[in-house]
Amino acid sequence: MALAERRDIEPEIADLLAARPALVMHAQDGLCFEGIALNAIADKFGTPTWVYGAATMRARYVALVAAFESVGLRPHIHYAVKANDHLAVLSVLRAAGAGADVVSLGEFMRAQKAGVAAKDIVFSGVGKSPDEMAAALAAGIGQINVESAEELSVLSKVAVKVGKIANIVLRMNPDVDAGTHAKITTGLADNKFGIAAHDIVELYAHAARLPGIRPVGIALHIGSQILNPAPYATAYAKAAEMVRALRAAGQVVSVLDLGGGLGIGYYDEPGISLSAFAAMVRATVGDLGVQLLLEPGRYLVGPAGLLLAAVILQKQGSAKRFVVLDAAMNDLLRPALYESYHGILPVSAVDFVSAATPADVVGPVCETGDTFAIDRVLPSFKPGARVALLDAGAYGAVMSSSYNARPRAASVLLDGGQTHLISPRQTQSDLWAHEIIPG
Ligand SMILES: *Cc1c(COP(=O)(O)O)cnc(C)c1O
Repeated sequence: MALAERRDIEPEIADLLAARPALVMHAQDGLCFEGIALNAIADKFGTPTWVYGAATMRARYVALVAAFESVGLRPHIHYAVKANDHLAVLSVLRAAGAGADVVSLGEFMRAQKAGVAAKDIVFSGVGKSPDEMAAALAAGIGQINVESAEELSVLSKVAVKVGKIANIVLRMNPDVDAGTHAKITTGLADNKFGIAAHDIVELYAHAARLPGIRPVGIALHIGSQILNPAPYATAYAKAAEMVRALRAAGQVVSVLDLGGGLGIGYYDEPGISLSAFAAMVRATVGDLGVQLLLEPGRYLVGPAGLLLAAVILQKQGSAKRFVVLDAAMNDLLRPALYESYHGILPVSAVDFVSAATPADVVGPVCETGDTFAIDRVLPSFKPGARVALLDAGAYGAVMSSSYNARPRAASVLLDGGQTHLISPRQTQSDLWAHEIIPG
């Protein structure tokens, strides 16, 4: 399948910058994010460092709410914690009004630690363990999204044991191709996610009879980085049909969880149109009289983060120029994992206007896959020059590892003109602090 994120003609760095109003190139200070010079951040905290902008996150949350308000809908927004689970990020979004969508007990605990009430958390995922179910129920979780008949029967037993009633929705697999990358499409019949549509009515009736279970509706989530509302429209029309079929069978349906997947512009294109998305939701499921839920992850935080790195050296290979950064695939895995595109901008104003030629941008890890960009048109860099890898706020730091004994990068949050260190760079001794040599 074609890599939906790939584009034949890549934008120039001036186009990347122009498409991102939170980034401004200042003649003296260089590249600034939310008004703060990235060079100053690198001087103070070193590189590589994740830089997150709270104002960008809030603005994206507000825009999403406003798009729905303008079509007369008030969905509950449950931020998908897996996109970026930093407590500081969760706390910004909680304060903006978001609940949380979690896929593990660890994420559930993080969301609570950041102040999200258990009743505002929904628990998704194909493999919740009985211990995870019990802990979430005991804490008063708002909703559990059930992905199979097998899981439903385990959940019923656990709920009885814990003495709680689980509000559940059944995750329907709508068998719709989201037209995105094969590794992030989730709504096809042969994906591991959800329950086939033809099994839902019977399973819902079964759920209603099970002890400890209260079925309240259905959920679907068709994939990630979706830029076109069309596959959503197909899936949501099937969801609406399902809600009607359930009601015709005498069931009570009060919740429809529409999932996440809203795509962002990694090049210089706009992300999914919120007004078109909201209008499509209104048209497909707006008159069902259900509480709508949304689970956006990437949309809220992707463009609100970047990875600030420094050039270790430039290497002239026999056929290519290589720009070797101090950031690597252990920090930002997406290019190695999905061949994803991330814009790369020079931080210095002088570099920004220098003559640019193609180069491969790589990290120091001993893997050929440790490549951020191939034939990217960039200026020649001196050692120590800084670059920003853009749109790294989602599925960035959360996928970091310490591969090659590389300590995890620092993270900072920009908020109200201040730079807050929200996780210090790991030290070498942090890496072995919990290791035990026997004997
Ligand atoms: C990953 C995921 C999301 C969020 O996806 P984004 O593409 O980041 O919006 C929402 N719901 C479920 C069930 C998920 O697995």
